[in-house]
Amino acid sequence: MPIPIHDSHHAPGALKRLPLLKASAFFIAAVCLCLCGLLYLQLEQSRRHDLALAEVASSNLTRAMAQQAEDTFMKADLVLTSLADWIQADGYDSIQLPRLQKTFARRVQTLHQLHGIFLFDKQGQWVVTSFQDLPRGSGVSDREYFKFHQQNVSSLAHIGPAIRSRENGEWIIPVTKRVNDKDGNFQGVLLAGIKMAYFDQFFKSFNIDEQGSMFLALTDGTLLARRPFVESQIGTSLAQGSIFQKHLPGANSGNAMIGSVVDGTVRLYGYRQLEAYPLVVSAASSKDAILKDWYATAFQSSVIVALVVMGVGLFGWVFIHQVRDGGRIEADLRTAQEALELIATHDSLTGLANRRLFERALDIEFGRGARQASSLSLVMLDIDFFKRYNDTYGHVAGDHCLAEVARALKSCCHRKADLAVRYGGEEFAVLLPDTDIHGALVIAEQIRRSVMDKNITHSGSPTGYVTVSLGCYSFVPTGRDSIEVFIQRADAALYQAKHSGRNRSAVLSMDGGVEALLRSDR
Ligand code: GH3
Ligand code: MG
Ligand code: MG
Repeated sequence: MPIPIHDSHHAPGALKRLPLLKASAFFIAAVCLCLCGLLYLQLEQSRRHDLALAEVASSNLTRAMAQQAEDTFMKADLVLTSLADWIQADGYDSIQLPRLQKTFARRVQTLHQLHGIFLFDKQGQWVVTSFQDLPRGSGVSDREYFKFHQQNVSSLAHIGPAIRSRENGEWIIPVTKRVNDKDGNFQGVLLAGIKMAYFDQFFKSFNIDEQGSMFLALTDGTLLARRPFVESQIGTSLAQGSIFQKHLPGANSGNAMIGSVVDGTVRLYGYRQLEAYPLVVSAASSKDAILKDWYATAFQSSVIVALVVMGVGLFGWVFIHQVRDGGRIEADLRTAQEALELIATHDSLTGLANRRLFERALDIEFGRGARQASSLSLVMLDIDFFKRYNDTYGHVAGDHCLAEVARALKSCCHRKADLAVRYGGEEFAVLLPDTDIHGALVIAEQIRRSVMDKNITHSGSPTGYVTVSLGCYSFVPTGRDSIEVFIQRADAALYQAKHSGRNRSAVLSMDGGVEALLRSDR
């Protein structure tokens, strides 16, 4: 068929629908992903910001704690140094004792962090204290600090583990100094007891969360003071904790996020080791408390973005369904259009092209023939004595006969470009592009024989069977040709075939004269 009934280039929707659907789905997914990605980036940034602020606050807090601890111990240290120098020079015989007691008491009054000042002899017995009465008891020779000074000649201050005062049971942190005689021999120990409550109050003056903590410890990990105060933990060792194991060996101060092995709480620990004394301070805030506001913001933002994503997703779902429905409607319309096109261009009885399609094909083939300088042939066909066939067998049988002749006709159109047409009632035409008159005559004869071979009985015909007459015309289009003349000439050849006896093919010669090329197999 030279004219495509349905040209796919005129139906862009079919080709573009699928990419549009995919593009829509991709776009919606991309919008949702972008929203989620932006939310994630924004939340991550604000989380880091909040943690960074908490680290700064933690560093400041530990610096303040370190400063306070250093001041506290240094003042006690200075007091002990001046007293030790005095005792070393003057000794502590009974004449000196009242003066010493007064001096001790004055110093304790001046420094309110001090619980008391004590002087022990080389057996660990109380010699003089800042209190009026000397305590009774077995002395302090069993205490860690006493043994330390007995064995170490160092005159530097020593800070020991927290102890309960034998004076009044109060928790104190002992700062001690060795007392020598003029020859440097061990003469006893001077002790300034720093109230643990002093640190407790200082720690309480800071605003930290319920799960937060603060502590002061010796560099060997022995806990000296802690907020919250848990008596059973005083004196225990923190040496196995992450701060002492991992962080302090690397840096004297810093921050670390550490998960507690005790309660599972993750805390931000700020830690700092004092330069002048073997002490470590640390403050911790729970990660949950640090990020409390962030969690609330993250929840709100996530809900909003989830709603927007759901909205976009819903819109996308509706949109994609509408596009899909539109595609289906368009496909249905296209099918209907194709069916209409088929009805409009084909004959319902025979299924052959009708005159409308024939004329369109003629237009196109005239142009193509002229461009390519190729022969265009037309075979016109008319059933012989068909009026009689109708009269004898009736119109219904006549219609069946027409359909059979059409089938024979179609079976002889071998090329794709050949077009079989029902031209009129019982007249047919075959348009043969790129075919000269010899080729057209060959086809015409094939058709004639094909009809004969069907052996359709026709008592009104001299042959006894249905036969056809055919007229052929062929020419090379020039671009200025008339369709009417083309058809008239093929018709004239058909007339010749009828006139010279029917059941034959005739050819109209190229010079316009009639040449009876009769080919009959009879
Ligand atoms: P000739 O050999 O000279 O062609 O004689 P003829 O009887 O075939 O004459 P003509 O070609 O004029 O006959 C046309 C007849 O074809 C008239 C009509 O009865 C019949 N005819 C036309 N269209 C149809 C149709 O659609 N169905 C049927 N059954 N008959 C048709
Ligand atoms: Mg006729
Ligand atoms: Mg006829």
